[in-house]
Amino acid sequence: MQDGGHEQVVFCYDQPTGLRAIIAVHSTVLGPALGGTRFRPYPDETAALVDVLRLARGMTYKNAVAGLDLGGGKAVVIGDPGTVRTDALIRAYARAVDALGGRYLTAEDVGTTIADMDLIRQVTPHVTGTSESAGGSGDPSPATAWGVRCAMHAVAEHLWGDPGLDGRHVVVSGVGKVGSALVALLVEVGAKVTVADVDPAKVDRAVAEHGATAVEVERAHTVDCDLYAPCALGGVLNARTIPQLRCAAVCGSANNQLAEPADADRLARQGVLYAPDFVVNAGGVINIAEELGGYDRARARERIDGIQATTAAVLATAAAEDVTPLTAALRLAERRIQSARQEAP
Ligand code: NAD
Repeated sequence: MQDGGHEQVVFCYDQPTGLRAIIAVHSTVLGPALGGTRFRPYPDETAALVDVLRLARGMTYKNAVAGLDLGGGKAVVIGDPGTVRTDALIRAYARAVDALGGRYLTAEDVGTTIADMDLIRQVTPHVTGTSESAGGSGDPSPATAWGVRCAMHAVAEHLWGDPGLDGRHVVVSGVGKVGSALVALLVEVGAKVTVADVDPAKVDRAVAEHGATAVEVERAHTVDCDLYAPCALGGVLNARTIPQLRCAAVCGSANNQLAEPADADRLARQGVLYAPDFVVNAGGVINIAEELGGYDRARARERIDGIQATTAAVLATAAAEDVTPLTAALRLAERRIQSARQEAP
């Protein structure tokens, strides 16, 4: 797939509410473009545009590799949600989404909430990730955590010939919504868990509730362990941190874990298996995508279980083709998109 090459980019302004937003539809080859709405105070419109184009493209790959019949898109609302967000502004944004006629389906992302999605639903049907009371699937974090554990089983099978995590040592860095749910799921299957978070209260909770061991945030990636699970910020795998890793594999929920694509090669040279973030953390998007056919929790769970097979396929392809798992995952996504393009009338 060519870099850039977005199908449609729409700038949205609404003077009465002060709305400034950009919606980027990267690809609708597999289906309507699904991706969340990020609400943040970008320094200027160019920075917002660069971000939304990058994020929309990432969603094309994420949705394709997850096996969803959905394309990739994303939206950004420019401004500090803490100060400029009003219901009227969200409604104005919802009208902009609606005007795309379903080519773009929105969802929650950094800076927006499930309550915002419920409000958007009052204006347009082209939204997912609404609250359970509004007929949606609610908070996607437990589904994301479940998917990360599925991916870990695939990594374990690939590395050690056994998908079990019993007795494996996992470091979870960031025990927020996804990380804390992941810790519970890991302890349930007998893993030994070490946690780190900039918020000491969250660390204390993981230690008290799950018997986890605590480590300082700066040292989390240096712990000698089986699996390192970044579940906080992006960019944690970089030229400085990769040589310090003492894990067999990296498998976590954080988006954009690699500071740059070359870090995938650095990890391979270091002998660390990297399960690509957008393969591993697709549980949330798979879960909200299930809303489109009428949400059914059991069916959603079954589809999220598929992350284990997808991760296994990515790792096996990488080994067979002698490429990094990142390259293998991108190829898998591209192959799906290409064959859909060829089948199109
Ligand atoms: P969250 O805000 O609930 O949790 C993030 C946690 O990381 C917080 O507890 C925060 O205190 C901690 N943190 C911040 N900086 C840190 C640092 N330097 N080191 C260690 N911990 C730090 O967010 P979340 O919803 O749990 O998402 C976690 C990551 O997973 C994000 O990168 C997010 O984009 C990604 N993700 C989340 C979902 C989802 O369903 N929530 C889906 C896909 C991807």
